Amino acid sequence: MDKNPKKPKFYTFMIVPHDARGQAVSLKLPARWLKAALCLAVFCVFLVASAFVYSTLLSRKLINYANTLTRNRQQQQVINTFSDQTSRVGQAIDELVQKDNELRRLLGLKGWKSRIKLSTDHLSPEAKMSKVALEIELDEAKLAERRQSHEELKNWVSMVRARFASIPSTWPIYGRISSYFGYRVYPWRGRHTGVDITARYGAPARATANGVVSYVGWRHGYGKTVEINHGYGFTTLYGHNSAYAVRVGQRVAKGQIVSYVGMTGWTTGPHLHYEVRRAGRPANPLAYLDLNVLSASRLWR
Ligand SMILES: [Zn+2]
Repeated sequence: MDKNPKKPKFYTFMIVPHDARGQAVSLKLPARWLKAALCLAVFCVFLVASAFVYSTLLSRKLINYANTLTRNRQQQQVINTFSDQTSRVGQAIDELVQKDNELRRLLGLKGWKSRIKLSTDHLSPEAKMSKVALEIELDEAKLAERRQSHEELKNWVSMVRARFASIPSTWPIYGRISSYFGYRVYPWRGRHTGVDITARYGAPARATANGVVSYVGWRHGYGKTVEINHGYGFTTLYGHNSAYAVRVGQRVAKGQIVSYVGMTGWTTGPHLHYEVRRAGRPANPLAYLDLNVLSASRLWR
């Protein structure tokens, strides 16, 4: 065999009809052309394949884009709902703050001065753009402040309750006041250091506040006397008794029976002489009768 057979320079294609009358057509093409045609065919196949791959990728991208759009729309709806809810919560908090201030005013406490400063420095740029994030930040700060305010109110109310229990604020006995506090001429000329409340002989007199019995015994002019120390500088005195119901050092509660009405000491008939002393000085008991927590709290301010 020839090792280097000479490549043919031309190829001839023949189309031979089966019909005997037909004429055969022959096409003589140079080998170079044939090679070029083959290359062109390969290139075309490559082009078509590339176009197919590219269009597949493109349509996949389009599907993704459509999905993202749908997702964005849904997220926008969620954000809108969230924003509405946030502003409703904000309104509720503002109402709460207003009510809190009203309560403080009613209780005679000084108003709570808000120290909220909304700083946006630490927020990310995305969050800064978001009104919702800012509102939530503001609401949280307001709530934290009001929590403090409520704690203060609660402490104040417990203090008031404890103190009110120790303030003479009730009637030791119900009856007609026959002699008021202050200067008088009858039955003895001079300053009357308490009020006289008429009652039947033996009627029980009750402690007008929580306290500790500091004296039980005879006092000049007062007769059989009971004295109670209530703390906070307050003491009460119950005079002209017929009998005692407590002993010295005993802890008594508001409303507890301490003695029984009589007519010991300087008296013209059975009645209770009732005194309130503040820091050792007699005060008008009428100012303390029928006090409630709020009116009592004004006394120690
Ligand atoms: Zn009296």
